Amino acid sequence: MTTLVEVQDISKSFGAVNAVDGVSLEIDQGQFFSLLGPSGCGKTTLLRLIAGFERPSSGHLLIDNKPMDGVEPNLRPTNMVFQNYAIFPHLNVEQNVAYGLRKKSISKIEKEEMINQVLELVGLSGLNQRSANALSGGQKQRVALARALILKPKVLLLDEPLSALDKKLREQMQLELRHLQRAVGITFILVTHDQEEALTMSDKVAVMFDGKVEQVASPRELYERPTSQRVASFIGAMNFINGTVMEAKNEIGINSDILGPLTISRSQVFGDLTENKIIIGIRPERISIVSDGSSVAGSISGRITDASYFGETTYYKVACGKGSETLTVSAQNSFGQMDYQIGEEVKLNVDIKSLVGFLD
Ligand code: ATP
Repeated sequence: MTTLVEVQDISKSFGAVNAVDGVSLEIDQGQFFSLLGPSGCGKTTLLRLIAGFERPSSGHLLIDNKPMDGVEPNLRPTNMVFQNYAIFPHLNVEQNVAYGLRKKSISKIEKEEMINQVLELVGLSGLNQRSANALSGGQKQRVALARALILKPKVLLLDEPLSALDKKLREQMQLELRHLQRAVGITFILVTHDQEEALTMSDKVAVMFDGKVEQVASPRELYERPTSQRVASFIGAMNFINGTVMEAKNEIGINSDILGPLTISRSQVFGDLTENKIIIGIRPERISIVSDGSSVAGSISGRITDASYFGETTYYKVACGKGSETLTVSAQNSFGQMDYQIGEEVKLNVDIKSLVGFLD
């Protein structure tokens, strides 16, 4: 893999606000890369710095090994798709898509060919003459994509491009965008605050908080091996259990509140061992509710205190130990299966290999 975009220790402040604070990233050629984080964490500012709409307060940006210091947005090998589409309502589809080509010396026939090709790519074949006013939200988003792609940028920057669409259409467009990215092979950098969107679409995700990148990893690694409690709770649901480190070598011996004594590998534990306190993280689907007969050694006893049905999954709250500690457990529903009832006594098997430990 060759690095296409290199963010080198970039900071950007607006007055007293450090919107981006010492960020370094390497984004590969052909990668679908997402910047994910809560509102105000600096992801849009970072995208705008890559586009050249903002100048960094310090640090450097290289695209395709070329320094971008002082290079205007229109001279960068990037193109941006905005959240509000920014298409021209008085122009038709074809005119909108061709807008960026107007200053290029391309023959009429060649232009038409390019337009038709890119419209086919985004699923708008035949709509060349349709007025932009007469398009649905999803179609407008496709026009915005086509307009950016026709310029064949090396990097396509997408700022929450699907957030204005309803849930069903958004999910459909997520898949389409992913397929489109694979088909054209262009590096996509997507800004989103939606964890599911980042996980389903990306090769790599950078999770940001307070202007800093906290973890860069593949979706699976982020979910299964989050390196901090913040990342773990931002990406999906996780139970956190207090524990004490009893022994720390290649394996870490822990005594924990609900799970009792257990041993996990050093590779499951993140942070530095300064105190003997540890927080253990476990995803709800890594705990299974079993009948007494199929409980294994180390299984724990609990009582169902709440149940929320979500179709394919039910989330249970289970009071464990002396009853003051609660675990969230998710169970896959199969057809006709009986639900566990509130107040029912159950056993829980915990998948110890999936645990993560946070030391600070
Ligand atoms: P959101 O998802 O809400 O768009 P974000 O993660 O994209 O958030 P940014 O828009 O990058 O966050 O903003 C990061 C911080 O910088 C915020 O505190 C924001 O108020 C501030 N900020 C961004 N642009 C400017 C600006 N032009 N002038 C002053 N402050 C700004």
